[in-house]
Amino acid sequence: MRGAEQGVLILGGGLAGLSTAYHLEGMRPAVLLEREDRLGGLTRSFRVNGFIFDITGHLLHLRRPRVRALIDQLLPHQWASVERRSFIYSHGVYVDYPFQANLHGLPREVVRDCLTAFVEAHADPARPAAEDLALGSFHHWAEAMFGRGIAAEFMLPYNRKLWCRDLRDVTADWVSWAVPRPKLEEVVGGALGIKNKGLGYNPTFRYPVGGGIEVLPNALAQALSGTQVHCRTEVVGIDPESRKVATAQGRQWHWDDLVTTLPLSLLARLVKGLPDKLRKSAAGLQATRVLNVNLGIDRPEVTDRHWIYYPEGRFVFYRVGSPSSFCKASVPAGCSSLYVEVARLDFTREDVPGLVRRIKEDLVTCGLLRSSDRIVAEQIMEVDPAYVIYDEHRRSVVPELLAWLARHGIHSIGRYGRWEYGSMEDAIHQGMETAAALSAGQDSRGTSAGHNNEEPTCHTNPESASPTS
Ligand SMILES: Cc1cc2nc3c(=O)[nH]c(=O)nc-3n(C[C@H](O)[C@H](O)[C@H](O)COP(=O)(O)OP(=O)(O)OC[C@H]3O[C@@H](n4cnc5c(N)ncnc54)[C@H](O)[C@@H]3O)c2cc1C
Repeated sequence: MRGAEQGVLILGGGLAGLSTAYHLEGMRPAVLLEREDRLGGLTRSFRVNGFIFDITGHLLHLRRPRVRALIDQLLPHQWASVERRSFIYSHGVYVDYPFQANLHGLPREVVRDCLTAFVEAHADPARPAAEDLALGSFHHWAEAMFGRGIAAEFMLPYNRKLWCRDLRDVTADWVSWAVPRPKLEEVVGGALGIKNKGLGYNPTFRYPVGGGIEVLPNALAQALSGTQVHCRTEVVGIDPESRKVATAQGRQWHWDDLVTTLPLSLLARLVKGLPDKLRKSAAGLQATRVLNVNLGIDRPEVTDRHWIYYPEGRFVFYRVGSPSSFCKASVPAGCSSLYVEVARLDFTREDVPGLVRRIKEDLVTCGLLRSSDRIVAEQIMEVDPAYVIYDEHRRSVVPELLAWLARHGIHSIGRYGRWEYGSMEDAIHQGMETAAALSAGQDSRGTSAGHNNEEPTCHTNPESASPTS
């Protein structure tokens, strides 16, 4: 390879960056820069005292045949296909997910109020079409779509915990795939106890039979032979005019095409020449942070539920999942594990040790833990950014920013590069599409497929990469 000038520079080694590099193999030479000491981004897994933890839960929901085929090809026979067992805990009982289609079991007055309001909302001749509702606030969307009962019992309190904002200021343009919209007969049936199986985007999911979700980025990384990979390399400046990226380690990298998966809010601070107005607007992009507490417990089967939503304010967390319930190989024999998620806009003023104590108390209150349980592994991580906030500001700024970057030869992709509520599949797919577009454009540059002689300067984590069954 004659240098990175002739190739594609990829910023960030999460799934979007890795997928871009993987799909450029044999087409364009590439260099990938990653700030952390190993690849994987949000899909890294961690071994703590014999337990394998992901960043909260990372389960694959595959809708695109191309991504499904890629995953099978990368890791044949290494996936378990699991039928979802997810629930909502409310009024002291568990109801199946999604709440709106499974009201049976809640106090009868609650069922009556939810059902009456759903029927009224459904029959309201003035109710706007779903596409129009999606343009308004989440608060309005939830009440118009499900009625005030379901909104008040689940949609609003749960989403307030998740988004940490007044839901009148959160737009509803992310809901189309994420929130199931059952028909009237499904809601009535669910209230009577008739099971509504398979509603929503994730009735079954895939998960590695061992090794945690990190086996996926590792498989992509191990297939890279024509890409130089540099970990512990933090990008601190991007100059579109000279086509150079500067790193905190004092190196400069030239690019012919630049693909970045860095958060858009950060990117706007790093790119030279971005108009002040756009830079200021980008500073207003908001995201929640998530405190992820992973616990290993010295007792088998603390729950067989995969994950549980907690809309009620008496619980500090909005969701708790159990990796051991969908992957026995992720815990030592006789043990089980939980992941807990608490969202905030900022944790800087939070008493985090106090919050962790409260989490454990609440886990006992809701019955997942017993006060006699021994916690034998514990990992606390702050995910920042975690969920980008959909509001009017995001709606106007993101397209403008992406358009400016594209005009300057910068392709911003991935969950935070697009500043969206994206899945692992979306990140992989965007990498595929970006690589295809860049490969199609390569003729005009006459770039040869580059295979460099330089050894990659970082490797995947062999410990957490090795499947345990
Ligand atoms: C709490 C949570 C739970 C989730 N659960 C699921 C799930 O169950 N199923 C699902 O499909 N999806 C899930 N997702 C979404 C999924 O994790 C993402 O869509 C996907 O991993 C995004 O990949 P990415 O490459 O776009 O971003 P990232 O994984 O964030 O990769 C970006 C990379 O850029 C690097 N980077 C950042 N700044 C710099 C810099 N200055 N210089 C160099 N490198 C830098 C980062 O270290 C990181 O490695 C979840 C997300 C969160 C937050």
